[in-house]
Amino acid sequence: MRLHTQITIALILGLAAGLVANLLGIDPLTDALVAIEPIGTAWIRLITMVVIPLVFASLIVGTASLGDITKLGRIGGKTVAYYLATTAIAVSIGLLLSNLIQPGSGMDEAALTGLRSTYGAQSADRVDLAQQAPSMVEVLLAMIPRNPVRAMADGDMLPIIFFAIFFGASVSVLPTEKREPLVTFFDGVNEAAMVMIHWIMKLAPIAVFVLIAAVIARFGLDVIGSLGVYAITVVIGLLLHVALTYALILKYLAGWRPLDFLRRIREPQLIAFSTSSSNATLPLTMETAEEELGVSKEVSSFVLPLGATINMDGTALYQAVATMFIFQVLVGDISIATQLMIVLTATLASIGAAGVPSAGIIILVLVLEQALAGTGVEPAAGIALVLGVDRILDMCRTAVNVTGDLTASAVIDRSEKLREGRIPVVPAAT
Ligand code: ASP
Repeated sequence: MRLHTQITIALILGLAAGLVANLLGIDPLTDALVAIEPIGTAWIRLITMVVIPLVFASLIVGTASLGDITKLGRIGGKTVAYYLATTAIAVSIGLLLSNLIQPGSGMDEAALTGLRSTYGAQSADRVDLAQQAPSMVEVLLAMIPRNPVRAMADGDMLPIIFFAIFFGASVSVLPTEKREPLVTFFDGVNEAAMVMIHWIMKLAPIAVFVLIAAVIARFGLDVIGSLGVYAITVVIGLLLHVALTYALILKYLAGWRPLDFLRRIREPQLIAFSTSSSNATLPLTMETAEEELGVSKEVSSFVLPLGATINMDGTALYQAVATMFIFQVLVGDISIATQLMIVLTATLASIGAAGVPSAGIIILVLVLEQALAGTGVEPAAGIALVLGVDRILDMCRTAVNVTGDLTASAVIDRSEKLREGRIPVVPAAT
């Protein structure tokens, strides 16, 4: 049986076990499912362990073999512009849908009070965390590591990317006899990391079962109740973004049949869904891009680690819907000007969110602060409202984040190959 089939079965079984435990209120089963959760956590740690060596080695190999440093600037510029554009589209879809569906209009007072009292304290924690978040200038400065070894030890992705590219670019201009051994060495590190991923992935079905079962057993579906319309709005938005935005981009910019593409990336999507972490999924995302989609190493090694860190279409869309929902419930009608500001802040905020579970809700505080300014409503009250369904939505938005990164890698790869004449361009009919 192929791995993605095993993972899908594990996912369904996990869902079923969690639902049985939660809906039938079988406490010993819930306790047992929650008790085995560390097995899932151990697996996430295993795969996360490969991220730094893999990203570092493959970026160095990628940049060192570019052959031409201007190419790096070109790929970089295209990638960032592409990421910003698709994220802004995602936010706009979220806003449009929230205007159409009005998820916050039917909420009754009793449900509101209940949600606030259940999640009030936790939401204050999220607000505290957001207040510790650095400013934009600090984020930009922090991209330049004072000490690359410390950045690696701390797992800070952007400074690692910065250093690896800089180092790789300098390797690329060395004379051949100096360059070759370095490239061979890092290529070996990269290959060994890939072998580790293969091994770790064999355990993925077990991890997926455990992770999903524990989440569903703990949170259940009852919490969705009053938040149902909101959660469904987010999910519809995410599906639309994949079915419209990505499908069109894949077809017209990447030359892929969208369904074929989606079939090939099932594994990273399932793992993103189960782990709620783009970072933990990154090794698999990179492997899939290279092996299933035929993306060249120089593109995948750059576009994907950057994407896992800064490109979060799913998160941005979710932030737009969440902000609209919170505004509709706590304040009322929302002006076009405020909505435009949401496009800007949600796009930027999603860049600042790390690819780890729940990062999106912490960053949501920043978007809310802007949107709610002058209304007298505190962001914490808003967070309290949506926290209950956050874990489940986190799973969905992470799967979209990873799909977005992979789509980008296909687009950039094709445009580079076209440029170099590696894909024959069919002349337009005259
Ligand atoms: N969990 C998401 C990711 O890793 C980020 C978020 O939206 O919380 O991509």
